[in-house]
Amino acid sequence: MIATLQDTPFSTGLKTWAQTLPDHISPTAAKSYLSCSLMFYFERVACIRKKTSVALHLGKAVHAALQAFHLARWRGGDDTPDAIAAVFEKSFADLERDEGPVNFDDQADRDKTRIDGLRVIAAYLDSPEAMQSKPRAVEVLLKEDIPGLSVPLTGAMDLVEGDFTPVDFKSSASKPDPVNAAFDHEIQLVSYQLLMEAATGETPPSLDLVFLVKTKKPQTIRVKSPPADAHRKRRVVALLETAVEGIASNRFHPQPGMQCSWCQFKNECMAWLPEAYQERRAA
Ligand code: SF4
Repeated sequence: MIATLQDTPFSTGLKTWAQTLPDHISPTAAKSYLSCSLMFYFERVACIRKKTSVALHLGKAVHAALQAFHLARWRGGDDTPDAIAAVFEKSFADLERDEGPVNFDDQADRDKTRIDGLRVIAAYLDSPEAMQSKPRAVEVLLKEDIPGLSVPLTGAMDLVEGDFTPVDFKSSASKPDPVNAAFDHEIQLVSYQLLMEAATGETPPSLDLVFLVKTKKPQTIRVKSPPADAHRKRRVVALLETAVEGIASNRFHPQPGMQCSWCQFKNECMAWLPEAYQERRAA
């Protein structure tokens, strides 16, 4: 029941859960839960380890390189393309050692992935989107109480520009459609606005995504979304609270969809039965 929200701003209409609430909720966790609660369970509750996906591995290494670039811009360090490429190479190897193994097909796949990373980073540094001025902040971790949420909201912003615009970087295999991209990342973007407003009292002029696209000729594409109005904020708080409620009440079940094509838990998923069925079978 999330339709009657006029009375109290950000009230979701969902009841507050006082039993096994998570410590906090992040937009990433909420999106993961809402996309498939059972996949969320396997990944984050049961903590079943699988090989790291190639896309996630590449995204993390690219992220480390961009972070180094933005920190160098912020603090006046070495922001040359060679220095940033070196950070990528080190991160690519370190992540594989520390968080791997990575699900590469073979050595050629690994080499291609590494080169793709270097190419998209070089394209970003060469693009007008590369941060020219001093950012306001880099890698901002925020944790704030948000009205309507039973637990604190947390979020890590890649970059905050001088005018308080939060920017999140995405590695992508194909060129994003701006409308779909903004819609797809609505929970994350609006969460950043909520966190920014709670922490600083400032409303960002825009909520931005920058895509590093590893097409044949790598591209850097910025997708801008206007700041959320009261309705968008209430809707996102309701989505976050829906995830909190589901996690707190142990509601985990298969949600077949497009996400199954990259899910690594198909065997575990096929073994799933609701508790009631399991009890009946055991009786
Ligand atoms: S296979 Fe599909 S339904 Fe099953 S856990 Fe994975 S994403 Fe969910």
